[in-house]
Amino acid sequence: MDFRTYVKDYPNKEGYFGEYGGAFLPPQLIPAFAEITEAYQTICHSSQFISELRRIRKEFQGRPTPVYHCENLSRLCGSTQIYLKREDLNHTGAHKLNHCMGEGLLAKFMGKKKLIAETGAGQHGVALATAAAFFGLECEIHMGEVDIAKQAPNVARMKILGATVVPVTHGLKTLKEAVDSAFEAYMNQYQDSIYCIGSVVGPHPFPMMVRDFQAVVGIEAREQFIDMTGNLPDAIVACVGGGSNATGLFGAFLNDPVDIYGVEPMGRGSDIGDHAATLTFGKKGILHGFESILLQEADGSPSPVYSIASGLDYPGVGPEHAFLRDLGRVTYGSVTDDETVDAFFKLSRNEGIIPAIESAHAVAYAMKMARAGAVGSILVNCSGRGDKDMDYIIENYGFGDKYL
Ligand SMILES: *Cc1c(COP(=O)(O)O)cnc(C)c1O
Repeated sequence: MDFRTYVKDYPNKEGYFGEYGGAFLPPQLIPAFAEITEAYQTICHSSQFISELRRIRKEFQGRPTPVYHCENLSRLCGSTQIYLKREDLNHTGAHKLNHCMGEGLLAKFMGKKKLIAETGAGQHGVALATAAAFFGLECEIHMGEVDIAKQAPNVARMKILGATVVPVTHGLKTLKEAVDSAFEAYMNQYQDSIYCIGSVVGPHPFPMMVRDFQAVVGIEAREQFIDMTGNLPDAIVACVGGGSNATGLFGAFLNDPVDIYGVEPMGRGSDIGDHAATLTFGKKGILHGFESILLQEADGSPSPVYSIASGLDYPGVGPEHAFLRDLGRVTYGSVTDDETVDAFFKLSRNEGIIPAIESAHAVAYAMKMARAGAVGSILVNCSGRGDKDMDYIIENYGFGDKYL
């Protein structure tokens, strides 16, 4: 397939990437999502919107983030050269702010007063609360009571940034219930507010909008890599939860002779409930308003999933990833918790970069490829920094002596 016009051609008007995507909405919300789609399609071509987003990225987020050559880590793994796109240096410490600032600016242009979302580990909540503070918008974050107890520092950050954190007390009191709760809240106040999804998932137009807002990662990285080395990388790698940091990196390289890899969490192993390797084990289905590949039970309900990285702990995947897999353009692999923690400590000790556990999945996969020696250079998206993971790592793995 020719990818030169891919971004224009996909998704189609109904939000489909091939057979995946779409918008499965309660009838009351169909007009609200149509309004968002229409506003986005107008605004994203406006020079005022584009120049404002550019200014925000440069002056507030600190973009462009650098590409860094990991010479020490590369030496440790053989002769392949490993490079990182440093999204961990983006303001708030991860790539998520890229789409949250876009969603916030869209809300502002649409005259909305409030941003509504759910959050699991709190990363999306913090990024969105940051955007709301910047734009002077209200922010309402729905979060399961269990997650609120587990993620105290992120809850504190959201509150300091001025967001209202709504505890969700029914069911398992985690992400799935928080999604239902946020959706219900949005249904009751969609005139004045906008629902901001945290990845390339959910009903159309979110998989498209979030992809477009994240595209800056790949556009910058491609140019930076060519400037540094004179060539394209042989391979690029990113971790896949919902898939936003991955689509962000991949977009600019789709039409290049570059191998592309998405990395899913194999967790503790391949049994149900031990991993979140959606594209490895999933089947087609509908979840949270979109059609994609999902980990699901015989009755179609989502399977229990697990990942050491709370940002990858999702039983679905963005529809575009399912499509890119079917096209054969992107290869989806996986790494285990153990390989991930090994990469986490090796990158920290050898390069002075403590990655998010999510990002350590991508680093682990690149290290495996490097050890196998099949490619000359690999560019990895370091989607975030690991400060948020310190307590968990120390409690479960100490200071990593067994990994050195
Ligand atoms: C949330 C998160 C992810 C996973 O989300 P994607 O949409 O798959 O990118 C990955 N890395 C970090 C640092 C995150 O915070």
